[in-house]
Amino acid sequence: MNPRTKLYPAAFNPLLVTSPRPLPKEIAVIGAGTIGPDIGYYLKSALPGIVLYLVDIAQEPLSRAQKRILGYAEKAVERKRMKPEQAKAICDNLIYTADYDQIKKCDLVIEAATENIPLKHRIFEAIEERVGDHTIITSNTSSIPAQRLFAKMKRPERATVTHFFAPAWRSLPVELIHWGKVGRETLDYLFWFFGKTGKAPVITADAICFMLDRLFDNWCNEAAGLLDKATASQIDKVAEEFVFAGPFYVLNMANGNPIIIETNTLQMEEGFHYRPASILGSVDRWKTNKPGAEIKIQHETKQTIRDRLLGILFSQSFDIADRGIGSLEDLNFGCQVALGFKKGPLDIMRHLGEKEVVRIMNRFKRERSGFPHAAKPFSDYQNFNRHLLVDDIEGVKVITIRRPQAMNAINDQVMDEILSILEKGINDPAVDGFIITGYGTSAFSAGGEIGKFPEMLGNRNASVQYAKDCARVQVFMDQMDKPVVAAINGLALGGGLELAIRCHAIVALERAIFQFPEITLGILPGIGGCIIPYRKWPNGGELFHQMILLGKPLSSKEAAGIGMVTTIASTYAEMIREGIKAIKKLKGNIPRIPDQAVSIQEIHIPDPPMAGKLSLSKEAVTIAAKTIVEGAALNRLSEALERGYNGFGEVACTGAAKEGISAFLEKRKPTFIK
Ligand code: NAD
Repeated sequence: MNPRTKLYPAAFNPLLVTSPRPLPKEIAVIGAGTIGPDIGYYLKSALPGIVLYLVDIAQEPLSRAQKRILGYAEKAVERKRMKPEQAKAICDNLIYTADYDQIKKCDLVIEAATENIPLKHRIFEAIEERVGDHTIITSNTSSIPAQRLFAKMKRPERATVTHFFAPAWRSLPVELIHWGKVGRETLDYLFWFFGKTGKAPVITADAICFMLDRLFDNWCNEAAGLLDKATASQIDKVAEEFVFAGPFYVLNMANGNPIIIETNTLQMEEGFHYRPASILGSVDRWKTNKPGAEIKIQHETKQTIRDRLLGILFSQSFDIADRGIGSLEDLNFGCQVALGFKKGPLDIMRHLGEKEVVRIMNRFKRERSGFPHAAKPFSDYQNFNRHLLVDDIEGVKVITIRRPQAMNAINDQVMDEILSILEKGINDPAVDGFIITGYGTSAFSAGGEIGKFPEMLGNRNASVQYAKDCARVQVFMDQMDKPVVAAINGLALGGGLELAIRCHAIVALERAIFQFPEITLGILPGIGGCIIPYRKWPNGGELFHQMILLGKPLSSKEAAGIGMVTTIASTYAEMIREGIKAIKKLKGNIPRIPDQAVSIQEIHIPDPPMAGKLSLSKEAVTIAAKTIVEGAALNRLSEALERGYNGFGEVACTGAAKEGISAFLEKRKPTFIK
């Protein structure tokens, strides 16, 4: 059993949980210091129609909070991330107040005041005295276990910790603590609520510092303990192999020294080895350099620092896994998304290999006695999906691509993990079929990651092989006797769409969008995108021409009109239910992609070809059109797919592809010459 199931059995994907409670109408955030206003801004951005109370005992933080939130909204409008009316809706009905009586009607209250247990007890008493019985009350504490925090509450079943990460309006993860007295209803609601409002909730046990702060605080504390060997900027430099910004740089940004002292002092309940480095109490700010700056450091010193930083990181990761504080999936994911690690700790271990990890841990044991070490074999910490969540519902494996930081973009690891689940499931009599869906509310998948493709530009054979390799899941699904249904929860772009159209049926949310944007990069969809749609939905030919050659997006309604989408749902949970129904219907009756030529509408390439305001490459559009026409004329599906891979190889050798991919990597608009 996955240890996460023990922590919280309802679901891995938060949007699979259903709750009878509606979204809140009024919310209060208590504490308008560093993080409170950011939590408020997230809430109002996700739910602009709510009334939000930002409560503090002092006027000064309230005034600063108001200025900060107005600043965020103005900047979002300036950068065209938001329309002025959206910004106005965020700032309206946002009440900055010192009066607790105003929160009476709140459905949810999030406490984000000073980290101090007696103070927080008093705050919960003040909240409970005022709000109704239905109100959910949470705390944003970084370190204090829920059991202590809510010890004096009259109705603790409606309370838990919801731990955000800075900057809370943008950072995706929120740790949601499953502690002894919290009611299942409360937990279900919050898990769903955060998923629904664009966050990535991770459930953890009620340990001191929960899951991610244990890693972060000890990482920083270990760095401080190394200051007798190197300077702060040298230590940051060594750490930058693993993180986007070194520990001292981050501590400066967050005014974090007192926090580490506090949280590590609390962790000393587990042993003296957690004691905070004394230097943290005598220094306000560290002398650091911007991440990426050149810093000299002796090889031996670098090795010592690297081993110690990895030692603490691995020690804490083993401990979290062995004590069941959090799951391997969430630990690896959270470190990257909340703490700025380039790879999760378990990925770093995999990259280094068992022998090197054992060497590092042996050295760590000699130099830093007392810390936890692996209690299980190395392979036990590697056996999990990095990018997928898998839920079992009524005999269906619901596979959720969880990469919200990249709009669920697909890479080799994602495809390997999907393939492995399908391979295992086809031989499991308890599995009727599979649903593939995307995490969150915005995307099914934003497409294939550009990955190694730029290296292949100009090399026809390598590009053809690349397209073929990328198609391994699709080709596998063509042969499967158990149905796979794509549940499209938002944008399905490029490689993501090529995965969806190969599933045996598609269900979608009303707001889903289907698009092949490849042509705007001077390339074409090479993993069946130019072939499959015409064979599966021949009456959609004209629309597919426009999609592939001109990048036109297709709505759910349009897709349903040509039979591509079988059911349109209005909520995520309904979409999954429809997917399950489709699987039961398709059982033993899977439609195969026709093995015969298909007649298609004549293609007229407009002159100049345009995608919105972007002038496309005529050369690339012509190659794509030829690929479509010649692919459609071939009888065997395998030959037609081959034609598609070859079209990809051909377009990869054009100046259009070179320009399109360079422009994408340089974040500019491409200028196509031919
Ligand atoms: P802070 O010191 O910057 O702000 C705390 C605010 O709480 C102050 O404005 C203070 O006036 C107010 N306050 C004190 N007593 C109050 C009361 N009785 N009623 C209402 N307001 C009161 O602290 P912070 O960094 O914003 O942290 C707040 C909480 O969030 C802490 O529990 C902290 O551990 C946690 N947290 C902070 C961060 C972060 O990045 N700052 C990240 C995760 C969790």
